[in-house]
This record gives sequence, C-alpha cells and structure tokens, in this order.
Amino acid sequence: MPGLANAHSHAFHRALRGITQASRGTFWTWRERMYQVAERLDPDSYLSLATAVYAEMALAGISSVGEFHYLHHGPGGVPYANSNEMGQVLIEAARRAGIRITLLDTCYLVGGLSADGRQQPLEGPQLRFGDADAQAWASRVEALGADASGQLGPGARVGAAIHSVRAVPADQMHGVVAWAQRYGAPVHAHVSEQVAENRACLAAYRATPTEVLSDAGALGPRGTAVHATHLTGSDIELLGGGRCHVCFCPTTEADLADGIGPARDLADGGAMLTLGSDSHAVIDLLEDARRVELGERLASHERGHFTAGELATAATESGHASIGWPDVGEFAVGALADFVTVALDTPRTAGATQATALESVIFSATAADVRSLVVGGRDVVAAGRHVLVADVPGELSAAIAAVLR
Ligand SMILES: [Zn+2]
Repeated sequence: MPGLANAHSHAFHRALRGITQASRGTFWTWRERMYQVAERLDPDSYLSLATAVYAEMALAGISSVGEFHYLHHGPGGVPYANSNEMGQVLIEAARRAGIRITLLDTCYLVGGLSADGRQQPLEGPQLRFGDADAQAWASRVEALGADASGQLGPGARVGAAIHSVRAVPADQMHGVVAWAQRYGAPVHAHVSEQVAENRACLAAYRATPTEVLSDAGALGPRGTAVHATHLTGSDIELLGGGRCHVCFCPTTEADLADGIGPARDLADGGAMLTLGSDSHAVIDLLEDARRVELGERLASHERGHFTAGELATAATESGHASIGWPDVGEFAVGALADFVTVALDTPRTAGATQATALESVIFSATAADVRSLVVGGRDVVAAGRHVLVADVPGELSAAIAAVLR
C-alpha cells in the first residue's frame, strides 16, 4: 500500500497512554492531565519523546505525520531565544525517525469560551501555547524560513492550524488564513469535538464552530476540520460543499468519550475523509480506519457503509493531500516513493485471500502486522524492525518516564 498518513497528532499526548484509564471523567478532566505533561516538557525532553513517538508511527506504517503543534513557548509563556525551538525539535524528531512531517503550527490566543460565550484569558500551562495575536503568530511562523510552497526541507513542510473556536477569536482567524493562502498551505482546526464547545460558540457568535470557521475562509479544499463529531445538517453541507477534508480520530474519540461523527453523511456531501491518531491512545491507523465503518454500524444497525478501498484512501492518499503531500499515494513515476507492506500470514491475518486482501488489512490487521515502510525510496522499517531507531519501546519508556517523573 502507499504509506499511511497520520493527519492529526499531538506527539506529547503519547505520555498519557495507559495512565488516564483508571478513573472516571470526561474530555475535560483528561485535558487537566494533558496540561500537566505540557507544563513539564522542554526542548530536550520533547526531542526524545517525539523521536520515539514518530518511530512508533513508522513501525505502524505511517510515512507522514501532520503535527498539530501548540506547545510553542517556555514556562509562563516566555519565548525561547529561538521562538520556533519547539517546532524545530519536532521537525528534527521526524527526521531522526525517518518520516515526513507537516508542522501544523497552531495559533492559540485565548484560554477558552465560558458557557455564556465570554473569552477567557490564557492560564497556567496554556500560557506556553499563546502568541499575542494572529499577526505575532504569522511573524513567528514566517521565521521558520519555508520556501514559497511551504517546504522546509526534503521531508518537512509547514502548515497552519487554528486551534479551535475556543482558542482563537473569530476576528483573528483571517490572519491565519491569509498566511496559509500565501503559501498554498493546509489549514487545520479542531471542530465540534465536544457538545460544550458548540454551546459556548453559539453563545459567543450565534453560529456553530463550522459556520464561524467557514465565515473566516478556513474551510475549503486545503482546510481540514478535525473531529467534526457534533454537527448540524448545515455544518455537513458547508464542509461537503467546500470540498473540505474531515479528519476523524476514532480511537481518540472513543477514548475521550467524544461521540461518533457523521462520516458517511460528510463523505456523501463531498468532504474528503482522513484519519489521525490525535492523542495516541493507540497508534494504529488500520484500527482507526475500520472504526469509521464500525461506528456507522453501531449507530445504524446496518453493515457496509464504507468499502475497505474508501477507508484505505482515507488512510493514505486523502490524508497525505490534507497535510500538503498530494503526490504520495500513487504508484507512478515522479510520485513520492512511500510504501508500506502488511503481512497476510500473521495470527490476525492468516486465511486472507488475494481477492479480499485489502478487506483483511483494513478489517483485521493491526500495526503489529506492518512489515516494512519505505519513505522517499529509503527503508525505514524492514522485517518489522525500525532501521534508524534500534529500540523503539526502550526509547518510549525512557522519554515518558522523564516527563512523568
Ligand atoms: Zn487534537
């Protein structure tokens, strides 16, 4: 298959895997734990952690990651001497792990919207996420030094992200969109992951998050609405009519009790489906792919909403297009040579037939069945082993212990 595209990642959330499962709670209580980890990271510890996480992604067959990056500044929001140090750490981590990265540099200006729609100031760990305004965000991103097409090097490019309607006031969004238009770069945003976000947004703007982002010009073929879980009929029309990408993160959305988004309605409306492992509750895009279909089955009591081919396209071509690598996904002279192989003779996949091989991969294989990954013609995973990072579990354990200590 073409290499898999992980269109939505926050690398540091990987440190929370397994440790937030013992108690009750919601998305919002999980977010408090996530902020504790965000508070502790520095450039050195984030380089180790992200390198290990991206190496785990490579072992799962992921050749490109869209890193939705908002941990920009030092403690208390004091910028590092190089104000892009944390972003550059992520680019270096991807290089060490052998995968492509689109640094979706995220604009994050306010701390949230209260239930009655009032903007809250940045507080505590959020201070590290914030730029003064969209113009300050754009000047910082400018300093990354991308070429006219947003490329930062052979395996790295920059894109834009509006964290959400909670974190970016509507009158600041155009600054982010204008920067992205200048570079032909992707624009991603979290959209309607939680019902509370919709309520606060309606109170603030008398409009849904999708409507606010659409009015700001953020939704179009280069736009990606991440999650898109709790939508109205007119939201679905806006996203579909705009030929927008919609990134589902089903393992995270299940883990955080978000809900099940209207994948089939969005695809029927014209939106392009992509996939992300987001909080990295697991990193397994094959699992995420089948969960799109399984979620529809649970909600409708019927089977067969998405074919394995459609889900594979979401995991490969569409995902790559949404993060600015449209020439991955095609086996053609001149296209980027990113390929993954999945074994059909493992305990999970044995019995597969040639005629239904893709169904076996999408509906029964896991990341553990990935055997090889080639990125840009170079072997990154061979015979199930990472070629560049010798001990991926060891690196993960050490990097996570360092930030949880
Ligand atoms: Zn996210």
